[in-house]
Amino acid sequence: VKKYLEKIKKYQNLNAFLSVFEEKAIKKAVEIDEKIKSGTAGKLAGMVIAIKDNICVKDERCTCASKILENFISLYNATAVERLLKEDAIIIGKTNLDEFAMGSSTENSYFGPTLNPYDEERVPGGSSGGSAVAVAAGLSTTALGSDTGGSIRQPAAFCGVYGLKPTYGRVSRFGLVAFASSFDVIGPFGNSTKDVALVLQVIAGHDENDSTSANMPVPDYLSYLDKDVKGLRVGIPVEYFSEGLEDEIKEAIEKQIDFLRENGAIIEKISLPHTEYNIPTYYILVTAEASSNLARYDGARYGYRSPNAKSLYEMYVKSRSEGFGPEVKRRIMLGTYVLSAGYYEAYYRKAQKVRRLIKEDFDRAFENVDVIITPTSPTTAFKIGEKTDDPLKMYLSDIYTVSVNLAGVPAINVPVGFDSKGLPIGMQIIGRQFDEGTILRVSDFLERNY
Ligand code: GLN
Repeated sequence: VKKYLEKIKKYQNLNAFLSVFEEKAIKKAVEIDEKIKSGTAGKLAGMVIAIKDNICVKDERCTCASKILENFISLYNATAVERLLKEDAIIIGKTNLDEFAMGSSTENSYFGPTLNPYDEERVPGGSSGGSAVAVAAGLSTTALGSDTGGSIRQPAAFCGVYGLKPTYGRVSRFGLVAFASSFDVIGPFGNSTKDVALVLQVIAGHDENDSTSANMPVPDYLSYLDKDVKGLRVGIPVEYFSEGLEDEIKEAIEKQIDFLRENGAIIEKISLPHTEYNIPTYYILVTAEASSNLARYDGARYGYRSPNAKSLYEMYVKSRSEGFGPEVKRRIMLGTYVLSAGYYEAYYRKAQKVRRLIKEDFDRAFENVDVIITPTSPTTAFKIGEKTDDPLKMYLSDIYTVSVNLAGVPAINVPVGFDSKGLPIGMQIIGRQFDEGTILRVSDFLERNY
């Protein structure tokens, strides 16, 4: 713990952490040391973990990187956090993110951007940029992030680490601050497939505090590791390897696919025909859900209240106007628009129908293949400021990740080398609903053998 705390200080300029629990972490480490000696320690004894600052840790700040929650203190632990603590993980602090997890670069944080440790002029990806950097720079062993449209996988790709988005409902959302409730899921980052599997094992499973958490048995994820890929059917969707994808990323992924083939996997070209609708469908639905979820920040119940208000109405308007950043406001306006009378049918309802079609593309594909392999992002880490004045450009960088959340399936980012600028390249492995085991199996096989 002391070593990690020193490193967190040393790399403070990366701005990965929004709070660090120095004394608490050391105290907990001493306690766990005793437990280890007496043979009563939990499954994650001594694992040092960082938590994205939109996931509640009791008695600590949970800012969501927003001014509106700058001084908000959590009253309880998120279920995922509760389960980590029960297995004796040590929480070292809370990590930076795009405000309310809205973004792809961690530049939308009220507390300033997080820097990519591979090139400090570049973004770490987002929205869980702080968690990805914590793991990549060795500031913690593992980290939790949240993924609504790629926020675990894309920063994992930009920072060269493993990051898993579980099936929707696999991990309880209780204590995760809502962005788009039918998309959001908590998941782990790690420097190995095994670390990711260990954390998932502990946080997965039904929770009566979250009615959307699935009541399904959680398999032994470690039993999927150290396996081969003989006979495994791998789908390669043609739509994910076309224009806009950097050549070096394409080549790196093709090498991994060849390697799987050489080791007995059956590679098949497949089609996900509604791919072109991924981005518009995603951004209509998540902004609609966000506009509704963020209505609770009214200056009365949570966080910031404007000191300049002279009436109730002004309290609402000023607290929200002063408390939210520009991207959050943009999404509240977009979402309110697509839900408004007269536009609801044309946008929101239609997008829901397209969501179903996108999900059915995956259902059909998984009748013939066990996993689907795609790039995680069309580019490696981009420069800070490169996309900030063009929100559409920023949204388009999510092209390969949002469909996974629209369909509710699990996916992992696997680091597969570096481009000629020395920046990490990420590959995405997508699995069937509730089949995290198989994507961990493929990830682990490549990690050990490639
Ligand atoms: N970049 C996507 C967005 O801005 C995904 C964010 C996320 O997964 N939280 O919505």
